[in-house]
Amino acid sequence: MTSRALLDALAKERDELRRLVYVPGLHKCAKCGCVTISTAINAETGQFRADNQPQACPNGCGPMWPVTERQAGNEMADRCEQAERERDEAKGE
Ligand SMILES: [Zn+2]
Repeated sequence: MTSRALLDALAKERDELRRLVYVPGLHKCAKCGCVTISTAINAETGQFRADNQPQACPNGCGPMWPVTERQAGNEMADRCEQAERERDEAKGE
C-alpha cells in the first residue's frame, strides 16, 4: 500500500469513527453551556441533514465543541435524576 493510499484509508476510517462518536449537528459551548442543534436544508430536494460544520457560540464566547454520544447520554441521565428529585419534592417525599 502506498503512503497516499494509506492516508486515504486512514482519513476514511477517521470520518466513519467521527460519525459514530459525535451526535449529528449538536454543539456545546464550553464557556457558557449553550447548546445548539444545526441542520441544513437542500433547496432542490427539500431534504434536511445535520450540519456538522464548526459553530460559533451565539453568545459570542467563541467556537463551540461537537457533543459526543457519551456526553449526550450522561446529560440525559443527569436530567432524569433532576426530574425525579423535583417530582419527589413536589410529592413531599
Ligand atoms: Zn457561549
